[in-house]
Amino acid sequence: GRPWDVTKVQTTCPFCGTGCNFDLNVKDGKVIGVTSNPNAPVNGKALCVKGRFGMDMIYSQNRLTTPLIRKEGVLVPAEWDEALDLVAKKFREIKDNYGANALAALSSAHCTNEENYLMQKFMRAVIGTNNIDHCARVCHAPTVAGLAVSFGSGASTNSFNEIPDAKVMFVIGANPTEAHPVVGTKMKQALAKGAKLIVADPRKIELAEGSDLWLRLRPGTDVALINGIMNIILANGWEDRSFIEKRTEGFEKFRENLENYPPEIVSQLTGVPVEQLIEAARIYATAERAMIFYTLGITEHTTGTDNVMSLANLAMLTGNVGKTYSGVNPLRGQNNVQGSCDMGALPGDYPGYQKVVNPEVQKKFEEAWGVALSPNVGLMLPDMFPAAINKDLHAMYIMGEDPVVTDADANHVRRGLESLDFLVVQDIFMSETAKMADVVLPGASFAEKTGTFTNAERRIQMVNQAIQPISNAKTDGEILCELANRMGYPFSYNSSAEIMREVARLTPLYGGVTHERLGTQGLQWPVPTLEHPGSKVLHQETFSRGKGIFMAISYQEANELPDEQYPFLLSTGRKLSHYNVFTQNSEALDSYSPEELAEINPLDAERLGVEDGERVKVTSRRGELETKIQITDRVPSGIVFMTFHYMETPTNVLTNGASDKVSKTYEYKTCGVNLTKI
Ligand code: SF4
Repeated sequence: GRPWDVTKVQTTCPFCGTGCNFDLNVKDGKVIGVTSNPNAPVNGKALCVKGRFGMDMIYSQNRLTTPLIRKEGVLVPAEWDEALDLVAKKFREIKDNYGANALAALSSAHCTNEENYLMQKFMRAVIGTNNIDHCARVCHAPTVAGLAVSFGSGASTNSFNEIPDAKVMFVIGANPTEAHPVVGTKMKQALAKGAKLIVADPRKIELAEGSDLWLRLRPGTDVALINGIMNIILANGWEDRSFIEKRTEGFEKFRENLENYPPEIVSQLTGVPVEQLIEAARIYATAERAMIFYTLGITEHTTGTDNVMSLANLAMLTGNVGKTYSGVNPLRGQNNVQGSCDMGALPGDYPGYQKVVNPEVQKKFEEAWGVALSPNVGLMLPDMFPAAINKDLHAMYIMGEDPVVTDADANHVRRGLESLDFLVVQDIFMSETAKMADVVLPGASFAEKTGTFTNAERRIQMVNQAIQPISNAKTDGEILCELANRMGYPFSYNSSAEIMREVARLTPLYGGVTHERLGTQGLQWPVPTLEHPGSKVLHQETFSRGKGIFMAISYQEANELPDEQYPFLLSTGRKLSHYNVFTQNSEALDSYSPEELAEINPLDAERLGVEDGERVKVTSRRGELETKIQITDRVPSGIVFMTFHYMETPTNVLTNGASDKVSKTYEYKTCGVNLTKI
């Protein structure tokens, strides 16, 4: 080809839930680069380093190029037919011997909506179980559960394009400039226009430095902090009485509970000075409108759902929901974690959060799919590994997830997977979990397929195929169709557009969505009909549940705090240039930050007698590892901060498998560790 024979294919970024669009530049059937697309609905020309430079990942040496079958203990290359026949045969045998509930699957927040739809349909209609879950369980399940209780809909209330004109932003347990960089950029635009910013975070993140007020709370004290702020709001008469009366219920019990959180007590619990609590209450509550943003610093606690409902309480107390420049806005982590929840990759929900325990819903899906369906809620992800150890679960089918690296108490996860009779892993890379599989199936990357992703502001956007699947890989959708057909339940779809038409027929939230309508700008759900323009702001006239409900929530300590044996508190989070572990497959991104650098405070470094860049051993009750350290006052004394981006430093062997009582999300954000000089 000639240098000017470059095709540009608009598509959606495969990394974070911001949902930026850009053009893949394709020449001679190969992606040669990325350029901004000025018409991108969320990001315009802006892109972060991951979207801009991470595409070499498509051609990583670590890509799986052919199916693999374990023979005499070793994974060896196989033909597709042999691998798929074997998977179908084993799934059928296990179902015949132990029943459908002896199988479970993990779907993927990296795959398209259409593929997630097929995966949950495969488990429900073909296998006959609701044992289907995915990584939302370990990140934003408290959002789905908590906002569903408070508002009736477990999703972000507002839109990203409001941010540059926000007047007040309250960012708690989120680090947008690193984890959702284009959202971070929009926040900086708002600051430049005079917006006020409150940051609540134990770490001095970049936004904290530019904020009007930084609340350095103790990890895991969010409920106490928010209750304290609300106590002050009521004491000063800063609440929105007319909103409370017209739009909410449960206020009286909620108000009584807040009496237990006077500023002095809250200050002791959280470590935040009383004056700062008062200032936060004043800035947030007296503004005409204020937006709340949060992410995993709120959800990844044993009180995750309580934390989310506390933020919903705060927004309702001040009337800051149901209108622009306000709301409760969870920044969903992965590119399509919103969509994989929407598509029913959850053990209790069909697509569109229609409940498996509702007989009418069950009947609707039985009629549509032509098979009897299970009325029982399936296993949640954290329950799958103990079920495997107990021999209740015999096979797992894991698509596009790497729980051995990403789940808390990783050694326990490994033991669970080792106990299975049969493990199938479908991925684009040879992940740590794939290394344990009996059969490995090579999937195709986002550049190799057409479908849709749904971003953190509920915007459903096109993913457009730019190149053919590399080597012998197949799209996840194609693999699922071939498996279903082999198991005697035909999946016959000619295109992913056809799958979306089936989704729309069965899912009121997506009722008016077609690939044609999404075009270059996408649509924000709910989109109930073909004429409906989509929804920028939720809960405008009424809440999805009718009235919003105040919940009386009490503060509870984290499950594991530092003690004599493990005197440091370990907290985890993300870094700008990486996304979980799989960006290690991009040489460009990995070269920005090639290794783990555990952050410790200068006082602690002095006590331990370690210098910047030296290595330490970190141990917890569950495991140990060695890591290089960085000495910085970003973290307070007594706290160690690590990422989870490096296979060779698997932080999750340390983290605590204790989980939120409602959503079963692990408490990644606090556990006790010890540090020793090597
Ligand atoms: Fe991709 Fe997120 Fe970066 Fe946008 S902000 S380019 S969606 S990783």
